Amino acid sequence: MAQIIDGKAEAAKVREEVAIKVKARVAEGLRSPGLAVILVGANPASSIYVNKKGDACVEVGFESQIIRKAKETKQHELEALIDKLNEDDSIDGILVQLPLPEHLSADSLIDRIRADKDVDGFHPYNLGRLAARQPLLRPCTPYGVIRLLRTVFGKKDLKGKDCCIVGASNIVGRPLMLEMLLEGATVTVAHRFTKDLAAQVSRADIVVAAVGKAGLIKGEWIKEGATVIDVGINRLENGHLVGDVEFKEASERAAWITPVPGGVGPMTVAILLRNTLYACEHLH
Ligand code: NAP
Repeated sequence: MAQIIDGKAEAAKVREEVAIKVKARVAEGLRSPGLAVILVGANPASSIYVNKKGDACVEVGFESQIIRKAKETKQHELEALIDKLNEDDSIDGILVQLPLPEHLSADSLIDRIRADKDVDGFHPYNLGRLAARQPLLRPCTPYGVIRLLRTVFGKKDLKGKDCCIVGASNIVGRPLMLEMLLEGATVTVAHRFTKDLAAQVSRADIVVAAVGKAGLIKGEWIKEGATVIDVGINRLENGHLVGDVEFKEASERAAWITPVPGGVGPMTVAILLRNTLYACEHLH
């Protein structure tokens, strides 16, 4: 039976490290880090995530602003807002909560954020740094996954592991592929057009699911003793949250597994705080 990888506990450690450093800064008379979160419209899941980020900022002593904009807000209005935040010396990090309403282009808004304030790590500059093996502001969810894997494997033991990442988005699958390469793993990225997903998953020592489809990864595909990281978040009709992996069946074969909720989600927020502190201390 798999052991649970406790994302809540690991995230609490990261938050505590951040809080201690913020306290030390303030004691030295320096300002606390500032994070601005832009939320457009009232998507219920996005509102919950944004509130969690705001609460986490308060917990570690950051100055945070949640800027709520109407669903109809125009692209140029958001661009002007980002320009203003880019110039604001009290702001170290800017993030635009995704997804955005359909009339808006997330790519061009992310492009507009100053790369040294892109604490989500989504800007092409930061993705390029990661690809060039010189990471600066690392995408939060992928780096959160690495931190969770280190709790299982330590630093060295990811070398040579076979890792199958299912999903190839810009915010999870692709940057995670780069992070896993940095760790020395042998990486396969499966996606919508992968011919035999079961075969790819079943030979992996580490499986990371990041698709957004409940039950896509069958428990019987998991190699005996593998480590399973489930990034997916899916709300069932009965209101329950589940990942992309059949949790119960996979737990019978895996050695380690993340729960949903309480696995990757808390790590994403914790790494966002870490990135904002990093931007404040080293980039501004
Ligand atoms: P996304 O942008 O929709 O990307 C999903 C990826 O999965 C795409 O590459 C897609 O391919 C691929 N895909 C779709 N159907 C597939 C299939 N049948 N087999 C294999 N691959 C398939 O989603 P995302 O933003 O990466 O998020 C993925 C999931 O993670 C969602 O449930 C999201 O809520 C969750 N998430 C969680 C956290 C967290 O902190 N826990 C953070 C971010 C995201 P195409 O590109 O061809 O469509």
